[in-house]
Amino acid sequence: MKSTLCLAICSILVAANCFWPGPTACASEEVVTDADKVAVTIGSPGPGAEQSYQNILWALGKMPRKFKDCLWGGGYHIISVSTIDEWQSSHHARPFHSKDHPEWTYKNLSGLTGNRIKQILIGQYQFKRPVDRRVTFHECGHAFDNVRQISRSDAFATAYKLDSCLVKNPKFAWTARGEICAQLVAVEMCKNNVGGSDRPGLSSKFAEAWPNCAAIVREQLAYYR
Ligand SMILES: [Zn+2]
Repeated sequence: MKSTLCLAICSILVAANCFWPGPTACASEEVVTDADKVAVTIGSPGPGAEQSYQNILWALGKMPRKFKDCLWGGGYHIISVSTIDEWQSSHHARPFHSKDHPEWTYKNLSGLTGNRIKQILIGQYQFKRPVDRRVTFHECGHAFDNVRQISRSDAFATAYKLDSCLVKNPKFAWTARGEICAQLVAVEMCKNNVGGSDRPGLSSKFAEAWPNCAAIVREQLAYYR
């Protein structure tokens, strides 16, 4: 299983011009640098823009240096937008379609990652309420997943099959592999209850519900500490 994943990752790494730091990579300081700031822009100026910008920098400040370098090296950038719905409407985006949640629209989203255009949108508001600053962790999880091709790997598909038979708590019974992967990255980044009140989907219980998937995500993140 490991060699299949490794092969998949190596070919993607070449394509993404991302580097393979090796398992001996040590922990790096978690600071916001100019490279991080350059990667964040305010798409919608308005009353929520400054707070949203600070929230994004706060989240980036909690992420390992190598993890962020992997995202920026993979071509990703972050845009703070008023709401996902408004931004997408004004950019003539196609209507949102989720196989798993056909009732969802852009209004349901507090963040959105476009892997084709390497764009991480973070909403300033959702349903007129400020967006939780931890959304940035989840959306960066999607970008990391895409650069490393984690959730599309055979190893992750096998892990998903194993875990999905075991998930008891309906709150954690997600069906989209990409969402599970992104959320597991967020859970890892939010360990020790980073950012305030715990949420069911952001607690370590989510990782406990998906143990095999979580092990793969942790293994991937270990190279970017
Ligand atoms: Zn997501």
